[in-house]
Amino acid sequence: MVYGYTLRIAYIDLSSKRVKIKGIELTTVKLFLGGKGFLYYYGFKHIAPSADPLNPHENKLIVSAGGLASHAPGASKIGFLAKSPLTGILCDTYAGQVFASKLRLAGLDALVITGRSADPVYLYIENGRVEFREASHLWGSSTWDTWQAIRKETRLGASVAAIGPAGENLVRYANIMVDGFRAAGRCGLGAVMGSMKLKAIAVWGNKVPARADMDEWRRVYREVYERMRSDEPTRAWARYGTNDGVSVCARLSMCPGKHWQKLWLPEDEAKKLSGEAIVDARGVGRETYKEYAGILWGWGCPIKCSKLAKPRKKGLEHIVVKPEYENLAMLGLNPYVLDADEVLFTEWLINSLGLDSISFGEVVGWFMELYERGLIKKEELSGLSVEPRFGSSEAVREIARLIAYRKGIGAVLAEGVEKAARILGRGEDEAVHVKGLEAAAWDPRGRRGFAVSYATADAGASHLRGWPRPHEPPSKGPARGMVKSLIEDRDWKAVLDSLGLCTFVPYQRSEVERIYRAVTGLEMSAEEMMLVGWRTEALARIHAALAGRVPEHDTIPKRWMEPIAEGPLKGVKAALDWEDFQDALREFYRQRGYDLETGIPTRETLERLGLEWAVAEAEKAIEEARKRLGLQ
Ligand code: SF4
Repeated sequence: MVYGYTLRIAYIDLSSKRVKIKGIELTTVKLFLGGKGFLYYYGFKHIAPSADPLNPHENKLIVSAGGLASHAPGASKIGFLAKSPLTGILCDTYAGQVFASKLRLAGLDALVITGRSADPVYLYIENGRVEFREASHLWGSSTWDTWQAIRKETRLGASVAAIGPAGENLVRYANIMVDGFRAAGRCGLGAVMGSMKLKAIAVWGNKVPARADMDEWRRVYREVYERMRSDEPTRAWARYGTNDGVSVCARLSMCPGKHWQKLWLPEDEAKKLSGEAIVDARGVGRETYKEYAGILWGWGCPIKCSKLAKPRKKGLEHIVVKPEYENLAMLGLNPYVLDADEVLFTEWLINSLGLDSISFGEVVGWFMELYERGLIKKEELSGLSVEPRFGSSEAVREIARLIAYRKGIGAVLAEGVEKAARILGRGEDEAVHVKGLEAAAWDPRGRRGFAVSYATADAGASHLRGWPRPHEPPSKGPARGMVKSLIEDRDWKAVLDSLGLCTFVPYQRSEVERIYRAVTGLEMSAEEMMLVGWRTEALARIHAALAGRVPEHDTIPKRWMEPIAEGPLKGVKAALDWEDFQDALREFYRQRGYDLETGIPTRETLERLGLEWAVAEAEKAIEEARKRLGLQ
C-alpha cells in the first residue's frame, strides 16, 4: 500500500482521440519515485531507440509529476521527456511552479501522449477526465496569449503548458512554456508537441490524494517551512535568486561571454547584468505581484525567489519573470549584449516565441563568432537586415524571429548548432554542445571535474546533472579526484527531480526522508532514494548507446580545452589535458559499474539496481558499440 500518489497514468492517443487510464505498480514507485524516475522508466519502455523524434507515431511525450507534488514545500517541478529532435536521445526537462500539483489533484501522476491530431488541439484534464479541445484558433499564437486564452476557455485556476510558433514550426530547440512564465526549455520537446499538432495541455483538479500520516505530515511540513523561512543563506537567496548569477560566474571565470571567449568579467561589466541591475533597478510594484501570485512561486514555496522585472526603455516594457541566470547569460553575455533592458526584452520575446533560451543563445553567439571571423559571408545572411556582430541586440532579435518561423538563414539555425555546422560545413570546432545539446551557461574551465558532468549527463550538456565539490579550478589537479562528489551530487539532484522538489529549496536529507514517509507510508532512506539517479542514468545510457550516441559522444567541445584568455584563471583549461579528461571519464565508468570500454551498464550493475529486465538491451548495446568502435 502506498499513499500520496494517484497511481494512475493516462495513455493519450491524439490520432484516435482515445484515452486509456492504467495503474502504476508499487514496484515502479519504489524504484523510480515519480518525476524524472517515471520519465526514464516509461520513456525506456515506450520509445524505441530508433524512433524518429519528429514522427509522433514513433515518439512519445511523457509528462510526470514529482512524487511529492502537492505534498511538500517547494514541490514545484513538472517533468517532460521525449526522444529529442535536437540530440536524438531521450531528454528530460522541467518547469517550476504549480502544473505538477494540479496534475496530481486532477487525479493523474503521469501522461504518455502519442499520435498526431488531424487539426490543432489542446488537452484539458480536469479531475480525471481528459478532453480533446479544438485549437485551430490558437495555432500561431504566442505562448503567453495561448496561456491566457486557455485559462479563459477552461478555468482561471488551470495550469497550462503551451508551445509557441517555434514549436509549431518544428524548431529543434522549441520549448514548452508553463503558465506564460516558466520554461521546460531543453531539447526541443516543444517541437515534439508541434509534430503532434498539440498546442497545449491544461490541467485543473481539487482532489488531494490521501496521505499516510496526516499528523506527522502537518508537523514536518510546518517544521521544514519554518526552518527554511528563518535560515539566513536562504533569506539571502530569496532576495535575488539566480538573478545574481552573472556576478557569480564573473568571479569564478565560468561565464560564456562572447561565445565562451570571455569567461572572466571585470566588476563594472558584470554589474550591468547583476541582481541589483535586474531586481533592484527594474523590479515592479506589489500590485503586479498580486496579479501573478498564484503562478509565480512554487507550490508551498517558503523561499519565493522568483521576481518580476520590467525593462525601462520605451517600447520594451514587457513583464519578465525572475529572470534566470541562464537567460541573462545566454541572451546577454553570450552575444555580448550587456544592456539589462535589451536582455530582458529579448527574454520576453524568446519565451513568447517558444524558444529555449540556452540553445538559442548558443546558436546566436556561435553565428556571431563565425561572422566576425569571416566564416559566414554577408550574402549568406538571408532575411537579416543587420550584421550579426557581438553586442547587437537587434541582430539577436531578428535572428530569433527568423528561427521561430524558419525563414531565411533561420531555417538552418533552427536545426541547432551541431546540425547547423554540418549543413554549413563550417564552425564545428567552435560549436559548444554535448551530444547535440547546446551547453548551459557555466563554463567548466572554472571548476575541476565539471567537464565530466557535461560529458556524461543523460541529456547532453546540462548544468543540472551534478556539480563536483569543492569548487576548485581544473589546474588544482587531476579531474578523476572529483568524480565521486560529482556522482553523489548527480544522484541527489535526481532525487529532487524525481520527487519534484525545486533545487533552490534547501532540503536536508533527513527532512526529505521524513516528509516522504509521512506522505507515502514508505520507509526509504536518502541513500536508497539516490539509487534513482543511477537507475535513470543507466537506462538513459543504454537507450543512447542503441541510438549510436554513447560512448562516442561522451566528450566535451574543443572550445573548453582552449586556455582561458584573461583574468585570475588565465591559461586554465577544462582539464589538465585531454588525457586527464579521458582518465576521469574512465574513472566515472568504473565507479558507476559501466563497461570500461563502452560506458554502458553491465549485467551485474543492472541486477544490483533491480533493472534485470534491461539486461538484454544493455548487452545488445555493448555489442553494437564495440562493433562501432572496432573492438571486435
Ligand atoms: S525557490 Fe524559487 S524557483 Fe524554487 S520553487 Fe521557490 S520560487 Fe520557485
